[in-house]
This record gives sequence, structure tokens and C-alpha cells, in this order.
Amino acid sequence: MSYIKGLKCRECGREYPKEALFVCEYCFGSLEVTYDYAKIKETLTRETILSRPKNLWRYRELLPIEGEPTDGFHSGFTPLVRAKNLGKALGVSKLYVKDDSVSHPTLSFKDRVVAVALSRAKEFGFSTVACASTGNLANSVASQAAKAGLKSYIFIPADLEMGKVIGTLIYAPNLVAVEGNYDEVNRLCSEIASKYKWAFVNINIRPYYAEGSKTYGFEIAEQLGWNTPDHIIVPCAGGSLITKIWKSFKEFYELGLISKPKTKVYAAQATGCAPIVNTIKEKAEIIKPIKPKTIAKSLAIGNPADGYYAMATVAESKGWGESVTDEEIVKGIKLLAETEGIFTETAGGVTVAVAKKLIEQGIIPKNESIVISVTGNGLKTQEAVQDKIGKPIQIKPTLKSFEERVKL
Ligand SMILES: *Cc1c(COP(=O)(O)O)cnc(C)c1O
Ligand SMILES: [Zn+2]
Repeated sequence: MSYIKGLKCRECGREYPKEALFVCEYCFGSLEVTYDYAKIKETLTRETILSRPKNLWRYRELLPIEGEPTDGFHSGFTPLVRAKNLGKALGVSKLYVKDDSVSHPTLSFKDRVVAVALSRAKEFGFSTVACASTGNLANSVASQAAKAGLKSYIFIPADLEMGKVIGTLIYAPNLVAVEGNYDEVNRLCSEIASKYKWAFVNINIRPYYAEGSKTYGFEIAEQLGWNTPDHIIVPCAGGSLITKIWKSFKEFYELGLISKPKTKVYAAQATGCAPIVNTIKEKAEIIKPIKPKTIAKSLAIGNPADGYYAMATVAESKGWGESVTDEEIVKGIKLLAETEGIFTETAGGVTVAVAKKLIEQGIIPKNESIVISVTGNGLKTQEAVQDKIGKPIQIKPTLKSFEERVKL
């Protein structure tokens, strides 16, 4: 059963068939999937959702595939943690962490988009998938392609963290390390995508791929008892996730599953790569591409493909944007670990630190509900913290040595 109507240009509104297209021939705008919401309303009730397995396909009608899903049966439905300790540390009363650091199978929210992209790529008949990645997407495409029996070509900047490189190579994909930053990798991949008949998940099948991010938002609304939070802090790289979380709330409202969302959406970036946040703060309209320099490599996109839509989301929801230094990112990672027992990667350090800053500035009030997006796992970015945490206390294997060296 298909609920997809087609594709539509986000700029000029021209409509296209539901094929492997991604850019408008007339205005070069990006294309987006459109759905038959009237038909979806007939089947997608709270009861149907609740009756289904706890994975991202429980919202299947709102995801862009035609037949039955083929991949990602264990992805999604990650915990929404009531973060009382972190809340206390930040002086707020209703704080939650949406924790995709434990996403199956590769410990980041990219498992959501890849599950959808591979299911759709197979429907199109592709036998090879590819991507341009800042790290987490590489992990997820390599893993899920291995499981799905697809060939994969994966392109990353050559200076990625060891955990992200090993976490890709272990699945034995064709991994290409490009001597350049992500924006250069991406530009090269656009050229490659136009020449080879591969499903580049975040290029030529991007409209379908990107929809997978909505499940992060659907889950938050469901886990809050069919409510949306008053505030949500979202990390931005290309700016797609933030846009799709907002879209997910609006779709749930459209289908009568929740009341009108009043959520304020905040864009979070590292100061060393904050093209979206800087433009929000300057109240400008055009994003100036920058050269990234930050430890938050998963967010290091200087020319964000969906930057404009990310800013539109922030404006429409009456949110804001904030950036944090590398030092603040490390403090954010440690604070989350020490208060909630969650080890996040640098992107999670960014959202925790931005939340802290927005609360201190009084932009986020202390008694309203807040969700911090944690989108990746700290074991993949150990370089960021390895010199900034304690050391084990080394002892001889004797009681004497224990009592001498460990201060009780
Ligand atoms: C890719 C990524 C993001 C941001 O995604 P965009 O949709 O490109 O803005 C956030 N967090 C992590 C850990 C990521 O890997
Ligand atoms: Zn157009």
C-alpha cells in the first residue's frame, strides 16, 4: 500500500513523479515527498501505532516507501530519558533527553535515515548504495548495506575520528577517504552521482532518505504521551534533522494525533562551524558558507544543504540558535555523563552545552518542558575527551596497595 503522492519542489511547488529525483529542473530547488494525508488518516490512529512493534516502521504510512519495509526492523524507538539530575544541574524542572546514542545498529540517529533510504533504494532496483558522510552516516550505510546485501561506496573526509573510520571499515565497504573537508567530499560526490548509477542516499535519493529523520520527532511526541515539548534543542549539520522534527510534529497534528504543537525549536552548532546559527543571530537571510574548524566533526558542514529550511523552522516555531566552543562541548559531554550516565559524542556535547547556555540566558524558561537531542555515541569520538577525564588509580594486587593508593 502506498501513501506517497509524488515529489514537489520546495521552492516553486512544481510536482514530479515519485522517482529517484532530487532537484527541480526549473529552479534547482530541492524536492520533497508529498503524501495522501486523507488516506493516511483512515489507518494511522494512536491505536494502530501502539499495536505495532517498537521500531521506526510503526509510523510506516508517513514514510516514503511503496511496499513493505525491508530494512531497519530494529532501528528507532530509542529511550526518551527523564533527565532529573541534569535538570537539577541546569536549574530546570522538566528536562528530557532523546537518546539516539543507543540506536541500532550503529549508535546514531543516522540509522533512521539509512533504514528508510535502503528500503526505498531497493524498490528503485539499485544494487549499490553510496554516501558522502561526516562519519555517522558512513557507519550506518556500511552496516545496513552489509545486512541488506547491497554493495556500498562511502566517502568521508580523510581526518575523521578513528572510531568512525573503524566503525565503517569493519563492514568491509568500499571506503574512500578524501583529502578535503566534508563540503569538498560532497561536491565530489555530486559529480560521481551524476556519472554512476548508484543510490547516493543523501544526494540522488535524498528526498526519501531525509524523511527517516521524522521518526525522531514522532517518537518524542508519542513518548510524551501524545504531546510535544515546549522546547527542543537540535544539532545541525546539513540542517535536515531539525527541519524534519518540526515537520513530524506538524504531520501528527494534521492527522489529529496531537494538539497544535507550540514547540520552540533551537538550532545548536559548534562555534567553529556555525553557519546556520550565525545567520539566525545576524537576522540575515542568506547563509555564508564557512570553513569548519571544530572537534564536532559530525556537525562540520560549512555549506549546509538545508540551512535555509533549518532557519525557516527556527523562525516559524519562534525558537532561536546558539553555538558553543570546543571547550564547552567537552564540558557538555562530561556533564551529561556525570549526571545521566549517558556517554554522547561531540554533537551531543553541543546540544547539552547549548541548552545550558539558553537556560542561563533566560531564553528557555526554567519550568517548561525541554528535550535535548542526543544523536550519537561517545565511544566513537574518544579523541575529544581522552585527555580531559581522570585516570584509573593503578595498584598492586594487594589489599595493602589498595588501601595505600585509594583514598577511602
Ligand atoms: C548528521 C548528524 C547530525 C545532523 O544532521 P543534519 O540532518 O545534517 O543536520 C546530528 N548529529 C549527529 C550525531 C549526526 O551524525
Ligand atoms: Zn522548482
